[in-house]
This record gives sequence, C-alpha cells and structure tokens, in this order.
Amino acid sequence: MNIFEELSTRGHQQVVFCYDGSVGLKSIIAIHDTTLGPALGGVRFWPYASEAEALTDVLRLSRGMTYKAAISGLNLGGGKAVIIGDPLQIKSEALLRRFGQFVESLGGQYITAEDMGVSVKDMEYVRMETRYVTGLPEEMSGSGDPSPVTAYGVYLGMKAAWKKVTGTESLKGVKVLVQGLGKVGMALVELLHKEGAIIYATDLSAQQLDHAERSYGVQPVSPDDWYRQPVDILAPCARGGILNAETIPHLRCAVVAGSANNQLADEIEDSLRLAERGILYAPDFLINAGGLINVYTELEGYSRSRALARTEYIYEATLRVLAAAEQRGITPHEAAMQLAEERIRSISALKTRSLLPAISLTTA
Ligand code: NAD
Repeated sequence: MNIFEELSTRGHQQVVFCYDGSVGLKSIIAIHDTTLGPALGGVRFWPYASEAEALTDVLRLSRGMTYKAAISGLNLGGGKAVIIGDPLQIKSEALLRRFGQFVESLGGQYITAEDMGVSVKDMEYVRMETRYVTGLPEEMSGSGDPSPVTAYGVYLGMKAAWKKVTGTESLKGVKVLVQGLGKVGMALVELLHKEGAIIYATDLSAQQLDHAERSYGVQPVSPDDWYRQPVDILAPCARGGILNAETIPHLRCAVVAGSANNQLADEIEDSLRLAERGILYAPDFLINAGGLINVYTELEGYSRSRALARTEYIYEATLRVLAAAEQRGITPHEAAMQLAEERIRSISALKTRSLLPAISLTTA
C-alpha cells in the first residue's frame, strides 16, 4: 500500500502509529478532518489479519466519522483508532493506559470512545491517562449506553422518509420489519409499538424474538429470507452489507431506514440499485447518528434530555437530504455526502475569513 497516496485520496490530515513493545501495543490513530472540530471516533480492538488491513479499516472508518458528524450538524471532525491484536489474548491495563497516553499526546485533536473489542471497563483505564475520552458509563458522569438515543434518531429518520413517500409522518398501521433485536433494534420496536405500527422482526436469538413478541406483539420472520417479506419499511438493525446485489432485487418495501452501519455493500452501486427499484433509502450514517450526538453532548456535561432534543435534528436533516437528492437527481446517500462536504467547505471558509486581520483605517 502506498500510504501517502491513500491519505491523499481519502483526504486524511494525520495518521499516527503508536507502538510500545513492552506492553504489546500496536495501534493506529487516524485523524481525517478537523475543520468542524476535534476528530471523534471509537477505538476498535481487533485481530486484523495484517497491518495493511488495520490501516485500511482505520482510514475508512475515520473518514466515515467526518461525514457522520458533518451531516448531523455537530462541531466535530472524523477520527478513529485501531489496536491490532486479539483482545482476549493481549488486552491489559498497561496496554490500554499506554494507548491513553498516545491519545493525550495529541492534545485533544483526537477524542476516543468505545468500539468493538473494547468495554466500558477498558475505557476507564484509557481515561486514567487522558481527558480525551467520551462515551463513559453513567457512574463516571458519562452518557452511558447510547442505544436508546440512536434508536430515537432512527425512528425520526424513518418518519421523515415515510413523509417523503406518503406525505404523512405517522407510522400508525404501517408495516415495519426490524432486522436485529439488539440494543438499538429493541428500543426502536418499543417506539414503533407506541406509535401503533404493525411490527415484524427477525433475530438469530430466539430469546430476543420471544421477548419482542410478548412485550410488543411483533410478528416473527425467518432470519434467512427476512428481506423478501412484503412490508412498507425495512429497518436493518443488525449488521452491515445487507443491501447488496443479491438482496435488493427481492426487497418488497417502499423505504429502508435502519441503524446498522454500512448497510450498502457497495455505496454507489447499491444505492443506485435501490433507487432504480423505487425504494427510498434513508442514509444510515445520517439516521443512526444519535449515538454520536449522545457522546458529543457528554463533552459539554451530559444531559439525556439535551441529547434527545439535539437528536430531533435528524428529522429535518433527513427531509433536507431527501429533497436535495430529488432536486439534484442523485441518490440520498450521495446527497448526504454532498451536503456534508458542503457544510465542511462553508465552515472552513468562515474560519479562514475570521483569521484575516482587521484592516485599520487611518486618515492621512
Ligand atoms: P447489538 O449487538 O446489541 O444487536 C444486534 C442484534 O442483531 C443482536 O440481537 C443479534 O442477535 C442480531 N443479529 C445479528 N446478526 C443477525 C442476522 N443475520 N439476522 C438477524 N439478527 C441478527 O447491536 P446494537 O448496538 O443494537 O447495534 C445494531 C446495529 O446498529 C449495528 O450495526 C451497530 O453498528 C449499529 N449502530 C449502533 C449504535 C448504538 O448506539 N448502539 C449506533 C450507531 C450504529
């Protein structure tokens, strides 16, 4: 891999390689763009097959965070970190604290948070060495589990998309299928149930499905061919890559709006496939931004009600993205990317202007 070419293509500002053999730490911190604010993104602890794979992942994920923050109206940039290795084998207090020291050395340019392979307890160790951590548990005056806030944002994005298609935002009597009844999916089901939607759901866990059936009257669907179920709205809340060349031709819905990250297996091809089938896709990185909004709120001193109020922005933002897609003749995914880039450019220009020295007028 030609590293500098990669950085230039994806537009990264800085990539920091952090190594300490004495504690087994091999980590990469990628700062994509700090025009809007400090680069925020979680740290992923993963047994990558190679260093090149780890680098590709951190570059891709940090860039994604820039777009997510920008389209959500947050004053944050995009960043991400990876720690290479099997967390079950090499994770230790010393390794995590050493990682925290590297984060601290960046002076707040990068703010870290929990991600795959990293627990709340682990973040407590990181926090011992750096102030630049967010997404802490409530007992540490943090924001706790972001999932209910994420679910609220997905729900609002879904309502906005439904309004675009039908002229009404009410989901009463609307058939919604939720794939994945985890922390976000279950909270979304609860909101949909309150609104009177007809809910179908699928999960690999019979226990989760059973709970949703008993508590919210959901109708179970097989996890193998869930995407063939005729419904109004599909809400993928399990994993990425599920909108692809194989599944899209079989979808029987008007809208896709869910929490899963990177739902489109191929951002360009699959968003076009959905558009060609007349299916409205609410961009995942926009409508699942509630979790990011939640940790952003923590940086100012957390209040759940402020986080939820701020998440309401997702409704307007979704309508704006869908309108831009229509006006520009592009897919919603592309429109969200363009609007995010436009916001970054306009704020960048604003900052440049504010740095110009004032002209002092003198009379001769
Ligand atoms: P989770 O691990 O709590 O739940 C995922 C659920 O999906 C589990 O119940 C699992 O059994 C189920 N599942 C996995 N594979 C499945 C399959 N093939 N078919 C059916 N069910 C399947 O995760 P979560 O925190 O609820 O997050 C869900 C998705 O939303 C993830 O893609 C996550 O990256 C994304 N997301 C979450 C948040 C958040 O605040 N938690 C924020 C943004 C994005």
